[in-house]
Amino acid sequence: MKIAVFPGSFDPITRGHESIIRRALPLFDEIIIGIGYNSNKNYYFSQERREHFIRLVFEGEGKVKVMRYSGLTVNFCKEINATYILRGLRTSADYEFERAIAQMNQNMAPEIETVFFVSDPALSHISSTIVRDILLFNGDVSKFVPGAVKI
Ligand code: ADP
Repeated sequence: MKIAVFPGSFDPITRGHESIIRRALPLFDEIIIGIGYNSNKNYYFSQERREHFIRLVFEGEGKVKVMRYSGLTVNFCKEINATYILRGLRTSADYEFERAIAQMNQNMAPEIETVFFVSDPALSHISSTIVRDILLFNGDVSKFVPGAVKI
């Protein structure tokens, strides 16, 4: 059974996240969307809301599950028998950041492989950070979040 974890804050889930997950689906038996908790971060949406949005997007998709976790992603992977971590790459800045994390994870847990998906060019400008900024000023984010998510 090939189980992958797609870890992130998903504050909120965007069309960019959705695309990575849908593209990864044929490669794995199960994809667990892991909503990480980091006490140093201030979140815009509560964990419940972030989880609810993700569930709406993948309703009826039996291979996708949503879980919350805290602590190291590699420890969460071990707990649920996942041997792959999925991440998306938009820019060279993402690459540098992700490379360091993937190499640290590789060092800590060599049995867990990080798999990168290069962003669809039509979605590479989308980030949860900018979506939150638009929301702060009451802007319309419907083009950036999955259709099922009505904010
Ligand atoms: P984190 O807080 O760990 O950065 P995010 O929820 O912001 O979590 O992102 C989770 C993953 O999704 C990261 O690998 C990020 O690079 C990727 N990602 C975010 N937005 C996009 C996008 N528009 N296209 C492709 N990948 C994306």
